[in-house]
Amino acid sequence: MPSFNHFSARLAIDAVRQAAVLCTRVRASLNSDGSLAKADNSPVTIADYGSQAVILHLLSQKNPEIPVVAEEDANALHDPANETLATEVRQEVRRLLPDLDGDAILAAIDRGNHTGGNQGTFWTLDPIDGTKGFLRNDQYAIALALIQDGRPVLGVLGCPELPGDEGTGCVLVACRGEGARQYSLTGDTYRSIGVSATPSPAQACFCESVESGHSRHDWSSLVAEKLGITRPSVRMDSQCKYASIARGDSDIYLRLPTRAGYEEKIWDHAAGCLIVEEAGGTVTDITGRPLDFGAGRTLKHNRGVIATNGPWHTQVVEAVSATAPA
Ligand code: AMP
Ligand code: MG
Repeated sequence: MPSFNHFSARLAIDAVRQAAVLCTRVRASLNSDGSLAKADNSPVTIADYGSQAVILHLLSQKNPEIPVVAEEDANALHDPANETLATEVRQEVRRLLPDLDGDAILAAIDRGNHTGGNQGTFWTLDPIDGTKGFLRNDQYAIALALIQDGRPVLGVLGCPELPGDEGTGCVLVACRGEGARQYSLTGDTYRSIGVSATPSPAQACFCESVESGHSRHDWSSLVAEKLGITRPSVRMDSQCKYASIARGDSDIYLRLPTRAGYEEKIWDHAAGCLIVEEAGGTVTDITGRPLDFGAGRTLKHNRGVIATNGPWHTQVVEAVSATAPA
């Protein structure tokens, strides 16, 4: 498989592809015993834990010294009340990594506890971004990025349900300064990707979360009206929205805060942001500021996200500001 020059690109793509195999398998047979509600009431499944275990184990084998900021931890799996789910996580991981014992699986998951920051190198992982989409049989993504001194330098988005060049599923990859590509889920096929050339916002197709709790749909309708957009929004879960911008399927991704004080998580944006930028697009927060991935585990210096194909990004930022709810 022709890879990027970046020293970790091949490793990251392979790890995400293995996790995609696990997620696809689990989803085909998932029932209500296969998920839990976390403290914030968001769902987590066998596949979230399994994907994180597989990827963090594979990364630690090659680069044990690079820490990881990942979404999940293994606390709930130590609870005897969740023994059935923990057993299924172990079984699914061992299909791919047969030599890993139970303790090693939990230890791999718990490698994701780094605090982040603006110095040094770390990975950030969302083992299943869009878990609600995963549970609804809609879109989800496996999102892995490498951050150096606060900036993403490598981003990999596994999108098992997004149409690819060889049937369903693809992996989008970007390395800083080297462009963005779409690989198939298996095999050697890949092509360079780029954002759309849509000449004005009025002609744009915009995308947003399915969940109105994650991005305000009433606000985005006002933005669309302000920009003269007539096409209905495309609602899609996960960082597949960044993938959609990066390959020119849509032109604007709006993530408009639903409440004061919510801090976006770095694993929800790092891979997608770099992929859009390397595909020629622009990503900022709703005030037009670049996303600051060096502020810890969250984007605490930013509010919301706007990603576009680039040329009229400022017009979209202005429309978001002009329609902001009181
Ligand atoms: P999406 O698939 O675009 O709806 O985004 C899924 C992500 O939304 C999850 O990974 C969560 O981390 C994140 N999330 C949870 N609550 C909120 C919120 N109130 N605002 C924005 N994002 C959220
Ligand atoms: Mg997520």
